[in-house]
Amino acid sequence: AQTLAGRRAVVTGGASGIGRATASRLAELGARVVVADRDAEAAEAVAAEIDGEAWVVDFSDTRALDDLTLDADILVNNAGIQRVAPIHEFVADDFRLIHQVMLEAPFLLVRAVLPSMYARGWGRVVNVSSVHGLRASAFKAAYVSAKHGLEGLSKVTGLEGGPHGVTSNCVNPGYVRTPLVEKQVADQARLHGIAEAEVLEQVMLTESAVKRLVEAHEVASLVAWLCSDDAGMVTGASYTMDGGWTSR
Ligand code: NAD
Repeated sequence: AQTLAGRRAVVTGGASGIGRATASRLAELGARVVVADRDAEAAEAVAAEIDGEAWVVDFSDTRALDDLTLDADILVNNAGIQRVAPIHEFVADDFRLIHQVMLEAPFLLVRAVLPSMYARGWGRVVNVSSVHGLRASAFKAAYVSAKHGLEGLSKVTGLEGGPHGVTSNCVNPGYVRTPLVEKQVADQARLHGIAEAEVLEQVMLTESAVKRLVEAHEVASLVAWLCSDDAGMVTGASYTMDGGWTSR
């Protein structure tokens, strides 16, 4: 049976959505989980619920992470944000912000945690990427490029970590109904001049063979499996969970 008893895990963006479901799943399997999020109230609530710890931190302040050291067996890079706009109107600071939170911070966290994993000869890094880590989508220049970068970072981490018992993988979900997606639906409806319900139907469900959104707990259980001992030979891989979207 899969157990994570005795493992210490850090889940970024663990206060909401996919991160919250992941923090709960890892805790259910016996891990001690640190919920790392800028939303102090929500992070503390989730930490209390799963008998874990809250780490209130803003991952856009990447300089503050330069000298960080982290002691953990499992790192889930999940914190993320979205901005939807055509490139010629894309606000430069929004592009930088997305890259800081979704690419620079994951690099700095991996860099901070690897020494402790190498010392124990065991570690699991899971990067919550996206279908957009593998496929482009118009109006999401920052998100798509940051997620593509995260795919590269994940593979390099896997290559360097392998001899030390450390694996690194990406999960690539299709759309999950979270606050991030709710906001994106509203932005896309405005951009395309259609109703929000139509965005779901036309933009989010057309490509899915299963014809429904992904559930956060489904992503969480894939992450948990990648963190298990059974997944020790899985590294540098990217696992889509998208109802068949990218198989087309
Ligand atoms: P969400 O908005 O529900 O949760 C994101 C969490 O990250 C929030 O708790 C937020 O406070 C935290 N966060 C954001 N910026 C932060 C910062 N600067 N510092 C610290 N914490 C910060 O979003 P979600 O949909 O669960 O997204 C989680 C991850 O999953 C993201 O990386 C996202 O790109 C990815 N993803 C989401 C979907 C989807 O459809 N929802 C699909 C594919 C991939």
